[in-house]
Amino acid sequence: MAAITAAETFSDASITILEKNKTVLNKVRISGGGRCNVTHKPSDLRFFIKNYPRGEKLLRKLLHNFDAQATVDWFEKRGVSLKTEVDGRMFPVSDSSHTIIECFLKTARKLNINIRTSTVVKSYSSNSENGFSVNLDNGESLQADKLLIATGGYPKLSSFDWISEHDIVTPQPSLFTFNTPNNYLLPLAGVSVQDVLVKINGTKYEWRGPLLITHWGFSGPAVLKLSAWGARDLAEKTYQFICKINWVPDLNEQQVREFLIGEKTKTPKQLITSHAKFGIPSRLWKAFADQAEVSEGSIWSEVSHKILNRMTELLTNSQFEVNGKTTFKEEFVTCGGVSLSDINYETLESLKTPGLFFAGEVLDVDGITGGFNFQNAWTTGYVVGKEIGK
Ligand SMILES: Cc1cc2nc3c(=O)[nH]c(=O)nc-3n(C[C@H](O)[C@H](O)[C@H](O)COP(=O)(O)OP(=O)(O)OC[C@H]3O[C@@H](n4cnc5c(N)ncnc54)[C@H](O)[C@@H]3O)c2cc1C
Repeated sequence: MAAITAAETFSDASITILEKNKTVLNKVRISGGGRCNVTHKPSDLRFFIKNYPRGEKLLRKLLHNFDAQATVDWFEKRGVSLKTEVDGRMFPVSDSSHTIIECFLKTARKLNINIRTSTVVKSYSSNSENGFSVNLDNGESLQADKLLIATGGYPKLSSFDWISEHDIVTPQPSLFTFNTPNNYLLPLAGVSVQDVLVKINGTKYEWRGPLLITHWGFSGPAVLKLSAWGARDLAEKTYQFICKINWVPDLNEQQVREFLIGEKTKTPKQLITSHAKFGIPSRLWKAFADQAEVSEGSIWSEVSHKILNRMTELLTNSQFEVNGKTTFKEEFVTCGGVSLSDINYETLESLKTPGLFFAGEVLDVDGITGGFNFQNAWTTGYVVGKEIGK
């Protein structure tokens, strides 16, 4: 995006992309399960930036230059239509990430952008007269007036050594599911609940949305979004904390208790375990009833208030011990990277090395799952492309 925008903005610039892999855009290829979740449905900027646990302030500025609607238009202009799914994620109509890759490659070819693959950058040096020397691992040294580093996120701090004149915020995973090894719900793996409220005990983090029970714990949008917001604090807790779940988030404890007590007169003869309430999946309801020690064959008129209190607690304030995390579908999204305090917020130029720019996930910016990380890459790439040839 940066190279194309620069080529379109500064027609006499000579632009080279250096890529260590055999092909460019490998993450695009595997993204979104091979479909590439290109961006998220355009919305008011105030709401859109709420999807960035880190980098909100920077993107509030930059999205004015290139937002989700601009992304949609950019691809449309180059022959790629995007479609929106019910949850707001946007994909190419073809449902194939190859469409996105082809679009970039075709445009780059047309603009005579030089792409050198299997080319590993080891280091760079700069001086005010000659610009940059970019040193490759094969010993070769290239000259450039300006340099953009868009190397993506690195999971290890040491991988940033070659840009270490900049402050680096230690990278941490920011998209993961919760492991709950002693969870009585694990046999229900595969059961999902459309709307729950998940909170992390002792923190401000909470998220409402769908939740999936897995073989090892909890996943689904509510958990993945919490993992992004809490990434740094949860790493500090070495992924050991209590998560609390309200399975009926529209109701509070008292309302749930009153409802359950009401069933004693409304449906006195009904078997408790076999008639799930509140739209809870029947297997999950049965697990709650077992956990509350509702005896098999028990009917509502017979159930004690003590048991109803236990059911109320389970439904509104279930507590699970989280011990560890699991990467979500091989998506190694990291938070951390080049500190935004070292960057000019208007241009993305380094405040320490004039002529050097940063874009994409290498910056300490990350979004929650749903297309926001690519939008960060497109936006910051575009902004650098508009600036770098000045
Ligand atoms: C499996 C997976 C699925 C994802 N799905 C989505 C999704 O659907 N939607 C979404 O918004 N986000 C998704 N993400 C996140 C998204 O892919 C990244 O946020 C985005 O690719 C970041 O773009 P970037 O250009 O900053 O970095 P990258 O896409 O990581 O590109 C950086 C490039 O720099 C190259 N490079 C690194 N170091 C050097 C070096 N020293 N010399 C030469 N080249 C170098 C790398 O090989 C790489 O090609 C996904 C991530 C993963 C891992």
